[in-house]
Amino acid sequence: MKFYSINNKNNIVSFKEAVLKGIADDGGLFMPSEIPKLEDNFIQNISKIPFKEISFTVAKNLLKDDLLDNVLLKIVDSAINFDAPVVPLDDNTNILELFHGPTLAFKDFGARFMAETMSYLNKDSNKEIVILVATSGDTGSAVANGFYKIDGIKVVLLYPGGKVSRIQEQQLTTLGENITALEVDGTFDDCQSLVKQAFMDKQLTGNITLSSANSINIARLIPQSFYYFNAFAQVSEKKQPVFISVPSGNFGNLTAGLFAKEMGLPVHKFIAAVNANDVFSNYIKTSVYTPKPSVKTLSNAMDVGNPSNFARILDLYGHSHNIIKQLIYAASFSDEQTKAAMKEVYSRYNYVIDPHGAVGYLALQSYIKECRFSNYAGIILETAHPSKFADIVEDVINKKIEIPERLKLCLSKEKHSVKISINYDDLKNFLLETN
Ligand SMILES: *Cc1c(COP(=O)(O)O)cnc(C)c1O
Repeated sequence: MKFYSINNKNNIVSFKEAVLKGIADDGGLFMPSEIPKLEDNFIQNISKIPFKEISFTVAKNLLKDDLLDNVLLKIVDSAINFDAPVVPLDDNTNILELFHGPTLAFKDFGARFMAETMSYLNKDSNKEIVILVATSGDTGSAVANGFYKIDGIKVVLLYPGGKVSRIQEQQLTTLGENITALEVDGTFDDCQSLVKQAFMDKQLTGNITLSSANSINIARLIPQSFYYFNAFAQVSEKKQPVFISVPSGNFGNLTAGLFAKEMGLPVHKFIAAVNANDVFSNYIKTSVYTPKPSVKTLSNAMDVGNPSNFARILDLYGHSHNIIKQLIYAASFSDEQTKAAMKEVYSRYNYVIDPHGAVGYLALQSYIKECRFSNYAGIILETAHPSKFADIVEDVINKKIEIPERLKLCLSKEKHSVKISINYDDLKNFLLETN
């Protein structure tokens, strides 16, 4: 598979280059040059195929020319080592639980697959890669966990001291080994600007191989298409048509769903569920895309005012608003509505849903009202475990919630961070001294 830059379709690179670079020289995101259809009988028999085998088949469909079968099998086997079960709420409504990975959010799928892939692609180089990530919380912990103890790669995380939740800080600072957390005396924006400066510093990049591993890396999107197939496998024998509601921020998750559809997954409708950050739902409504500064909400991993994967969605459908509008329904919801939905899901179904999933629930309901189907399989992506947002969730449903063992363990470990100022020389000296 070749990959082209969205900014220039003649700028074509190999899978290896797309993964190790993350973003094209011209600043464009990478897209696969084609998305091959899977065989019909794979889709027809999918309900009998285990998740790992589904994942391998889908990965191979895209990457068969880039990675040998046994290599790809090993990557899938190590990265996708936890389940993505579908839990029914009622006859028509289902939750796809994407929080069974080490950091309790769907980002584990992408981060783990990317880590295994990068390590393999870099194995013949004698240079260690240093992944530099600025994080406001969740991305950093998924990336750090994904690369934990992976050969040939170190991770340096920058996070704003005092500005992430205790759970998030514990997840960032308790791993050790090849992961270092830098606690910056500043804001998330300061962290991002320090990282940018480091990438532009020729003296530094001449000494150290820096890489970014952020959410736009194509190796993070590919594995996210696996669980769409697996979810379809679990519901399609009982019900069709299938609607999938995706709580969205940067739209990586939804884009991966669209990749699955292009590979032949018969999804009737994708539903983009957004909070008050509504640039995408406005685009669907009006055909005009107007990015704006993000606003803070309860579903904070979706607080994005200019989603980077929007460019990929446009590219995939030749910038046709008409096509995109037919494939994707979109709706935006307030924090008040989100809280009411969390309450409703709990009282009606005895299911504890997190604020992101709650927005997904609302968007599915809104679509159902409009489309008037009475028999269907609605799937809501539950993107994080509710205990990651325990303060909000417990307050809304008025009940203590259970914290999974792996989170308890992490909360009991000792924090290790290196404090730095927002002065770039602090970061530079740290990197040069430790690498
Ligand atoms: C990152 C994240 C999202 C948004 O996913 P995108 O791929 O950026 O649209 C939604 N929910 C949770 C819990 C997340 O961590």
